[in-house]
Amino acid sequence: REIVRKNVQVNYIDGSDDKNWSKKDFSWTKKLEANNKKVFGNHSFRPNQREVINATMSGNDIFVLMPTGGGKSLTYQLPALICPGVTLVISPLVSLIQDQIMHLLQANIPAAYLSSNMEWTTQQEILRDLCSSHCSYKLLYVTPEKVAKSDVLLRQLENLYARELLQRIVIDEAHCVSQWGHDFRPDYQSLGILKQKFPNIPLLALTATATASVKEDVVQALGLVDCIIFKQSFNRPNLRFSVIPKTKKCMEDIDKFIKDNHYDECGIVYCLSRNDCEKVAKKLQEFGHKATFYHGNMDPDERASVQKMWSKDEVNIICATVAFGMGINKPDVRFVIHHSIPKSIEGYHQECGRAGRDGHYSSCVLYYSYSDYIRVKHMISHGSVEQSSYASRSTTSISGRVMETNTENLLRMVSYCENDVDCRRFLQLVHFGEKFDSFSCKKTCDNCLKTHTLVDKDVTQIAKHLVELVKSVRQEFSGTYILEVYRGSMNQIVKKNLHDNLKLHGAGKNVAKGEASRVLRHLVIEEILLEDIKKSDLYGSVSSILKVNENKAYDLLEGRQTIMLRFPSDVKVSKSYRNETTTPAKGLLSSSKQTPFKLDTPAQSQQEVDTN
Ligand code: ADP
Ligand code: MG
Ligand code: ZN
Repeated sequence: REIVRKNVQVNYIDGSDDKNWSKKDFSWTKKLEANNKKVFGNHSFRPNQREVINATMSGNDIFVLMPTGGGKSLTYQLPALICPGVTLVISPLVSLIQDQIMHLLQANIPAAYLSSNMEWTTQQEILRDLCSSHCSYKLLYVTPEKVAKSDVLLRQLENLYARELLQRIVIDEAHCVSQWGHDFRPDYQSLGILKQKFPNIPLLALTATATASVKEDVVQALGLVDCIIFKQSFNRPNLRFSVIPKTKKCMEDIDKFIKDNHYDECGIVYCLSRNDCEKVAKKLQEFGHKATFYHGNMDPDERASVQKMWSKDEVNIICATVAFGMGINKPDVRFVIHHSIPKSIEGYHQECGRAGRDGHYSSCVLYYSYSDYIRVKHMISHGSVEQSSYASRSTTSISGRVMETNTENLLRMVSYCENDVDCRRFLQLVHFGEKFDSFSCKKTCDNCLKTHTLVDKDVTQIAKHLVELVKSVRQEFSGTYILEVYRGSMNQIVKKNLHDNLKLHGAGKNVAKGEASRVLRHLVIEEILLEDIKKSDLYGSVSSILKVNENKAYDLLEGRQTIMLRFPSDVKVSKSYRNETTTPAKGLLSSSKQTPFKLDTPAQSQQEVDTN
């Protein structure tokens, strides 16, 4: 089946501020509340759950952005239960589906799933039940490749549709549609067929991960024309964030951190490779922790047994690749440690999101070294990165475009790690298109804990150069590229395109990299520059590019606007431009001694940082 993508004009309606959806006088309100208590055992609704349910039950197409653990499943399971007909749920992973079905059956809600590696006779039985007159299932889960490849399924759905028994279509983990996301699943791209075939069946797309460009991509691919968006803050106030330079003594650091702050409490240590998981687990055992490992190379039985030990608190630290996490529902995870750099900010946010679901304080500590970045980059270019669980099985070949996106995502993560000025929450949330006033962080991240003397700096000239540069490369390049050119890099891509931007190439060679990228980020935040996606072909492959927002850039370019930014006066900025052939982190990080915050004694950790 060929995927043809038109660029349709989409109408977004922001549902989050619309009080109508919070009303309690819908015809189904009583039934809704009763079943939420009785069947699901919930005493109330979490933020946006009631609103999303009311809006989807009113027949709208909906896009929901809700953090991991926010309770997305309920927003379709509850309507499925109280409405007639069958709800079709597309979910990326069989193990996720099985987990859901188990919970549904426990609650006496009839549900089934179809996947390609299931016995054909079992599949037929389920299909037969679907087209029978009594049709017992309330929810039917399928994997995306089922929709893409099974005409039998499509015919069955048409049959349900004709009998008005297709109640709702749900796309869970909808960011898998997008090559922008960190979990691209090619089969998700063919889901546009559902809206084409069943235009008036309400569709509900759910994700915890969407930047503006991912959202755009998902909405386009699914063919949603008028859709209501529900979005809530991705800030997790009870999580504390810090980035620590990774040294040879990293394992000792981790051991000390856990003993000082979370001894005998539950946590996850995310590692880059399977080998790392085993080594780190062994080391932690030697230090006297109840630790074990979990990764994609273990057989299902082994994995299940680890999960079980973990949920029973027989082990309390799991050293895992990103394959661990989906469907994990342990509320009392007190810390998430990243032993190496995560592959994207989305991924990082989601992995950290597994901590503190019970609302109590939890720590997220990331150990960063520039050499890990090189390592991950190398793995990406050789396609040997263990994808998070969604992608692990079906993505056999990774296109060059996806690789570029992955590299771009990784670079953003590097810039997050190297930033030792801005609030971590601010940096993460900006990535999800959310404005966050770092004052609200209340010193719960390492950067906000530092007591720098700050100085205001006039960066107008840098800003002007960057905007002009974006223009002079015909608005076709990414921020990373712009910074490379500005700072005079001679890497291959820059060289290839050099004739176009001779004038400003190297104009910022005396400007520190961190400074230039902060100015660039500021321009994007202020919408003087816009981040856009470039679709390069029919199949919708995309890349990130910067454009100039003429209206907002006008004053700056005409010299009528000054831009001031606040910088810490004590940060030493490296003069020489560091490229990848020179060895690790002599950057901002290594110049300062950093320790993770102490949970109980913020004042003390502040002093420690002060000694710089
Ligand atoms: P998400 O898919 O958004 O990551 P889930 O749907 O898996 O989140 O829900 C996470 C957990 O929150 C589940 O254990 C679920 O039972 C619980 N939960 C969902 N809604 C509520 C609610 N209204 N009250 C209490 N617990 C809830
Ligand atoms: Mg979910
Ligand atoms: Zn902060």
